[in-house]
Amino acid sequence: MIIDTHAHLTDAKFDADRQEVLKRAFDAGVNKIIEISCEPELWDKSGEFSKKDNIYVSYGIHPHEAEKASEKDFEKLDELLRDEKTVAIGEIGLDYHYDFSPRKIQREIFLKQLDMAVKHNKTLIIHCRSAYEELITILKNYKSYPKGVIHCFSGTPEQAKIYVEMGFMLGIDGPVTYRKSDKLRQVAAETDISKLLIETDCPYLAPQKFRGQRNEPAYIVETLSKIAEIKNISYEEAAKITYQNALNLFEIGE
Ligand SMILES: [Zn+2]
Repeated sequence: MIIDTHAHLTDAKFDADRQEVLKRAFDAGVNKIIEISCEPELWDKSGEFSKKDNIYVSYGIHPHEAEKASEKDFEKLDELLRDEKTVAIGEIGLDYHYDFSPRKIQREIFLKQLDMAVKHNKTLIIHCRSAYEELITILKNYKSYPKGVIHCFSGTPEQAKIYVEMGFMLGIDGPVTYRKSDKLRQVAAETDISKLLIETDCPYLAPQKFRGQRNEPAYIVETLSKIAEIKNISYEEAAKITYQNALNLFEIGE
């Protein structure tokens, strides 16, 4: 059993064949999916989609969308976080790589959502690019943030250790299978497997075997195989542990 803990299946790239994509995922052993809905325009579509069995949802305002976020969006988010299928808030965070929203606004919107996570006691799904040090400072100054995952971790092994010490899990995605990802493989090797989650981030970041194509939950088996190889354990063992990690973090029943 496998949980894809980070999918964007509400993306228009899946409009033509969403049912087939789900079928392939379930055939590949993926029995649960967490849909990440981080653009307010897509929240309703994600809400509809997550009514299906074994689909869970996380709502939030992505740092790319920070500048557009309105008071109305926050009111709606406050409602969505009460839904029983909502297992997390996110992805929220900082993106200083693309800088699509001014950094000051990204920080404000992130902090506002941290407050909402605390209010609703929701797991954090954090997006962070080229801002790992600042994120550490913000979280350390923010006394009691909820548990969470640093999604699609791409920082250094040293930063990985700090996040794990701070109580976070690390999300590992398709790039762990790329030829040039030695640093990420080092992170996966040095981090206790009880702190790793597997994700696709589909339609983005297809594993090496499908690189350049649209990613989908069924391809998560490539990432899981790589984790098993790095940890020198069987595929089944790696699946079992990462599955349990996800159930615990998102408080999902068997
Ligand atoms: Zn994502």
